[in-house]
Amino acid sequence: MVRKISLIVVLSILLLTEVQAGWGNGGGRGWRGGQGQVADGLTTVEAQHLLLLREEEKVARDVYDLLYQQWGLYVFSNIASAEQRHMDSVLVQLQRYGLVDPALQPGVFGNQELQQLYDSLIMQGVISEMDALLTGALIEEVDMQDLHEMIDATDNSGLISLYEKLLCGSRNHLRAFVRQIESRGMVYQAQVMDQAAVDQIVDSPMERRCGRRYR
Ligand code: ZN
Ligand code: ZN
Repeated sequence: MVRKISLIVVLSILLLTEVQAGWGNGGGRGWRGGQGQVADGLTTVEAQHLLLLREEEKVARDVYDLLYQQWGLYVFSNIASAEQRHMDSVLVQLQRYGLVDPALQPGVFGNQELQQLYDSLIMQGVISEMDALLTGALIEEVDMQDLHEMIDATDNSGLISLYEKLLCGSRNHLRAFVRQIESRGMVYQAQVMDQAAVDQIVDSPMERRCGRRYR
């Protein structure tokens, strides 16, 4: 199942449109303080990325929670807990910059693109245990691609440390999913990243301390 997803491109266009349309006016989402206002100390793009990331980490958490219920594999419950910590770390930055948290209840997303993504990921993940594991690996690859783009788009050292920490987590999660996939006799093929980049990650050991500054 090779799928080309570049969430960040689709989503940043979408977010930009919503922001320009006055996303901050009521409804509980967007910027505090009204139309067109950019969070203090962040560029518009940095603010968009943080809002996107909060819900992107939630996609991972919610998909893994559901796939744990479906298949009972501990890899999903363990990684869902890590995704909750990732969501918490993003929330700290949202609050620091006065951005309103877009995250809703499990399985529900303010961002419609992410809602569709979540819906399609769980449909894939419930087909079989192998599809579930491949879905997990896909989520991690997409997250890493987006985090690299977010790092390239900022000079803010606090944001870069957050993104690096989440990247480190995603590398470990990809290693865990690929280990499960390959223990079932399948050779893992990269789904959205370069094969060489994926090989380099899965052929190197788990990283023990991802960003100690954050939980
Ligand atoms: Zn994560
Ligand atoms: Zn992850």
